[in-house]
Amino acid sequence: KVRTRIAPSPTGFLHLGTARTALYSWAYARHHGGEFVLRIEDTDVARSTQDSVDQIIAAMNWLGLDYDEGPVYQMQRLHRYQAVVDQLIAEGRAYRCYATPEELEAMREAQRARGEKTLYDRRWRPEPGKTLPPPPEGVKPVIRFANPVDGDVTWNDLVKGSITINNREIDDLIIVRQDGVPTYNFAVVVDDWDMRISHVFRGDEHVNNTPWQINIFNALAAPLPQFGHLPIILGDDGLKLSKRRGAVSVTAYADNGYLPEAMLNYLARLGWSHGDDELFTAEQMVAWFDGSHLSRSPAQWDPAKLDWVNSHYLKQIDEERLAALTVSQLAVKGIVATVDEVLPKVGLFKDRCSTVAALADWLAMYFGPVTPSADDLAAHVTDAVRPALAVFATRLSALTDWDKTTIQQALKETLAATGLKMPQLAVPVRVLVCGRAQTPSLDAVLALFDKKKVLDRLQTP
Ligand code: GLU
Repeated sequence: KVRTRIAPSPTGFLHLGTARTALYSWAYARHHGGEFVLRIEDTDVARSTQDSVDQIIAAMNWLGLDYDEGPVYQMQRLHRYQAVVDQLIAEGRAYRCYATPEELEAMREAQRARGEKTLYDRRWRPEPGKTLPPPPEGVKPVIRFANPVDGDVTWNDLVKGSITINNREIDDLIIVRQDGVPTYNFAVVVDDWDMRISHVFRGDEHVNNTPWQINIFNALAAPLPQFGHLPIILGDDGLKLSKRRGAVSVTAYADNGYLPEAMLNYLARLGWSHGDDELFTAEQMVAWFDGSHLSRSPAQWDPAKLDWVNSHYLKQIDEERLAALTVSQLAVKGIVATVDEVLPKVGLFKDRCSTVAALADWLAMYFGPVTPSADDLAAHVTDAVRPALAVFATRLSALTDWDKTTIQQALKETLAATGLKMPQLAVPVRVLVCGRAQTPSLDAVLALFDKKKVLDRLQTP
């Protein structure tokens, strides 16, 4: 049975790279009618927080990545790791190492001086014919895994193809720290084994850990999962995507009014393809995602493409939902509005927006004050046009029906009475009422306003 997992460390938000790994793991499990597990790798006790777990789960929910098991917390499984360590020690597959940091540094120094790779020299490893010194007083040991000393580790990576590492390249890994907490490479094996994980997708940065993990699986006589290491995601500057260069968390995009279906669609294409398809639903992805067509080269984060994908979904989604999202984005700007107030207004503007935040920028003029720029006022609200503005205001105030047609009529009558051309009147009206010189069709824009608000804003000093 296909069982996949996502195993975030709860030290921050759900990173975009982890979200992509989660998406692929989820889609792979769903494609095969398998199961997807959420595991929280919280052994870095100092940096792990429940708040981060909550954020990660909220972001997964937002993306619609539902899991069948979990969250499973590693820190609640310490007894299990302990039992496995005891077993490995009893079998001679792991051992206590009392070397101090100073001794290890001296060892590496000597190796460097000889031009060798710095590898632990197995000084505390029990071996036939070797006499170990008595354990030093007062030194707490770490536990090391007795890695095979020769032979190769080979696996067929789902993304990168066949990979072979010689055991001489890797040393006896620390599997339990002095404080008794297992290290990542050990806990991950026990967990993947216990959770019967069949396919491990994760970031490229773990590819060097996999040989150790395979050796530990083998030492435990545990069945090996298949591994797929996804290439890194580069920022649009060609460097690794990082916080310093913009939003890297799913939460930030959710907070900025991106749509989950757009994010999912965009992340799906970031390292995987299905022919020329760019726009597809989660269901389609699940139907197509069989582990093939995973890209081996780094993915490039492209904000403009994300906006393009987002604008596609923004036009498609139910307007009621769009209105609710816009209300939240208005609230971010400190503007209070209800879904009922916003709903009639989204249709006019949504086609020109790629994000809900941009839509809220447009709708803000209906609820909050507007502040036309000094440049716009000077350029468009000239003394020459003021009389016409007054005429227009009078016509509007006389209207009993307030809609597109009557407003259009008032505009035309004002032009006829003053001899102005449409832009000469419409632009200053836009600047005063909307706070900007360009908008969709003015009659439609004004019709969505409260009449009194329009008249107040047309009142120029
Ligand atoms: N906690 C690890 C990470 O977030 C998990 C790696 C793995 O999937 O094995 O990178």
